[in-house]
Amino acid sequence: MRLGVCGWPVAHSRSPQMHNAALAQLGLTQWRYQRLPLPPHLFEATVRALPQAGFRGVNVTIPHKEAALQLADEATETAKAIGAANTLTFENGVIHADNTDATGFLTSLKTSAYDKTALVLGAGGSARAVIYALKQAGVDELRIWNRTEAKAHALAEEFNATVSDETADIIVNCTSVGLHDPGDTFKELPLSADELGAGCTVVDMVYRHGGTLLLNAAKANGAEVVDGLEILVAQGAASLERWTGRTAPDQAMREAVADIAT
Ligand code: NDP
Repeated sequence: MRLGVCGWPVAHSRSPQMHNAALAQLGLTQWRYQRLPLPPHLFEATVRALPQAGFRGVNVTIPHKEAALQLADEATETAKAIGAANTLTFENGVIHADNTDATGFLTSLKTSAYDKTALVLGAGGSARAVIYALKQAGVDELRIWNRTEAKAHALAEEFNATVSDETADIIVNCTSVGLHDPGDTFKELPLSADELGAGCTVVDMVYRHGGTLLLNAAKANGAEVVDGLEILVAQGAASLERWTGRTAPDQAMREAVADIAT
């Protein structure tokens, strides 16, 4: 059985190491997970051909998540509400779409979002999944900030949130700030390190070897922190369970991705 991740580019993805470690741990020796670099114009035709090539399913990443939902024959309510899919499963001639980014985020949060305030930074694909998840978890007040403000307004209207950079109980960085130049984090985001203290949960979707500047500052100030790698593992575990019907060995998956330096 074959699995994979479709993206453009996809060379940086840690999903193959993570899933192949999980498949080995489960003793699924006939299964293999691989990178599938696909430019947008080849995405749909290639995905439709995958079942015949022995694929059980694929993860989908930038820039194909919306197209993945559109080509699917059926989709979960979560994928439909987010407007994007990161997991496709091929079943009896049917393409099924799900979005495990939302589940992965909530599983990793380790604190209840119920009745809390939340500030989401960013208005791209991962922000949509996080906003949907926080709403599902019963967050009391949701604030959205984005560099391009019009996108924050559009999301706020869609998800009944407010456009604001006021700090909150739960702060989630869904921008790519910190990925390339960690030193710029507190210049580019409307946060100061001293706002991130005890009683606050700080989540960074971005992951870096040794932790991001944002998470390291939050941790030093006594905040609860959730690393982007945890979310990567949790979304991957949910996808793997969908394809194999087995409980994902999340510790083996965590170790496989933690070993890779960026
Ligand atoms: P998108 O491209 O959809 O969105 C990018 C977001 O980052 C936009 O809101 C954009 O703002 C903002 N942004 C980019 N550069 C800057 C900057 N210099 N200053 C302020 N804001 C900026 O990406 P995704 O939402 O898919 O991913 C965001 C990050 O999350 C990526 O780094 C990705 O690697 C990570 N990620 C991690 C996952 C995990 O499992 N841990 C899963 C998915 C993503 P604007 O609208 O103004 O351009």
